[in-house]
Amino acid sequence: MQTRKTRILADLPTQLLTRPRAWALTGVVGLSLMGVVAAVAVPQQGPSQVPTVAVIETLPPPVAVSSAATDLPFVSELRVQGGDTAQTLFRRLRIDDPQALAMLTESPDGRQALRQLRAGRTVTAVVHGDGSILSFRLPVGQDGERIVLERGNDGRLTLRTDREATTTTLVEMRSGVIRSSLYAATDAAELPDEVANKLVELFGTEIDFHTDLRKGDRFNVIYEAVYDRGAPVRAGRVLAAEFVNQGESHVVVLHQRADKEQYYTADGRSLGQAFLRSPLEFSRVTSGFGGRIHPILNRARDHKGVDFGAPTGTPVKATSDGVVEFAGTQRGYGNLIVLQHRGKISTAYAHLSGFASGLRQGQAISQGDLIGYVGTTGMSTGPHLHYEVRIDGEAQDPMSVELPIANALEGRELQAFRRDTAPLLHRFALLNRDTQLARAN
Ligand SMILES: [Zn+2]
Repeated sequence: MQTRKTRILADLPTQLLTRPRAWALTGVVGLSLMGVVAAVAVPQQGPSQVPTVAVIETLPPPVAVSSAATDLPFVSELRVQGGDTAQTLFRRLRIDDPQALAMLTESPDGRQALRQLRAGRTVTAVVHGDGSILSFRLPVGQDGERIVLERGNDGRLTLRTDREATTTTLVEMRSGVIRSSLYAATDAAELPDEVANKLVELFGTEIDFHTDLRKGDRFNVIYEAVYDRGAPVRAGRVLAAEFVNQGESHVVVLHQRADKEQYYTADGRSLGQAFLRSPLEFSRVTSGFGGRIHPILNRARDHKGVDFGAPTGTPVKATSDGVVEFAGTQRGYGNLIVLQHRGKISTAYAHLSGFASGLRQGQAISQGDLIGYVGTTGMSTGPHLHYEVRIDGEAQDPMSVELPIANALEGRELQAFRRDTAPLLHRFALLNRDTQLARAN
């Protein structure tokens, strides 16, 4: 077996797999997977899912016209039996309402609903003491749709199709092993396309899916699946995923922090295109972004970056993952490094005294990598780093531009994160053990 499919719900009574109910989700949360699961929408299921046969309750009178206690409407449910007709259903539900019967048996919608009467389905009626109906619900079709016959306050009967929201969100877990291609594996695992694409996005900064993928690489993913009346309609959020690439495990989990959901690595670092605010470990801004009198040219000139004062030789770090686009000398910039990042974002580091050894154009750089040293080359009056952020070629203020900020969880937040994610990571570990057992056999 190269591919496993596991639903978390397999831990629960098997009936949940075929008929999700409101408490199915409670069960999932009960597994204490992680905090975000609790945010899943509460599924709604109509009364037709409840196989009750008896009179269940007395409703308060919905219309304040009758004071007779005998006229309190009551709710009845019964299961359709083989051979039932509108007449037999009405009789068994103690409905005495010729007008309602006529509407059901003579209108096209009513007749079509009656043709779909199936033994085992549940009919619900709200009936007055005198036998007249307030409502009558008859399931039709395969997906829980209902025909509803209702009497309004004015006494008029209407017939309509009940299209109540019936979506349920469940949490599913799937695993796969790469044999030929990633998408062949995600297809084999019956992973929805949205989830497969999300995997590529989530691991794209760490794994180059064109060149790094190897046969035997594997993935585990936990995501939400939205069902409408038992049929899957779309995928929701990916809650956690693991990709084992060339023996190395990469894990991401969705975690909520200060009202914001973000993906984090297993050790609590925020994921994706995160930028450090400053390329220097310790620094202070000596000149901000925007218009100023240039110290050498002595005339007004736009300052396209931010200057950080620091001694010559101070290490300069890449503020985000990227590729070296330029490393050399450029007029006023002096020794300059330009890094190209994803999303048409680039960063520039100027007036450097030197470059990290071996730095060359096209080289892949990780966030935090040492790329060069502070200096005062080019048009500069003293040692400092001139730092620029360009989006689509346009210089932006590095201190205020909306960039994804790298933020590693610390202290209590890290503790909470560990507590929330431990069961997930354990689950991944179990799955990996199972996969290895399966492959050994
Ligand atoms: Zn500057």
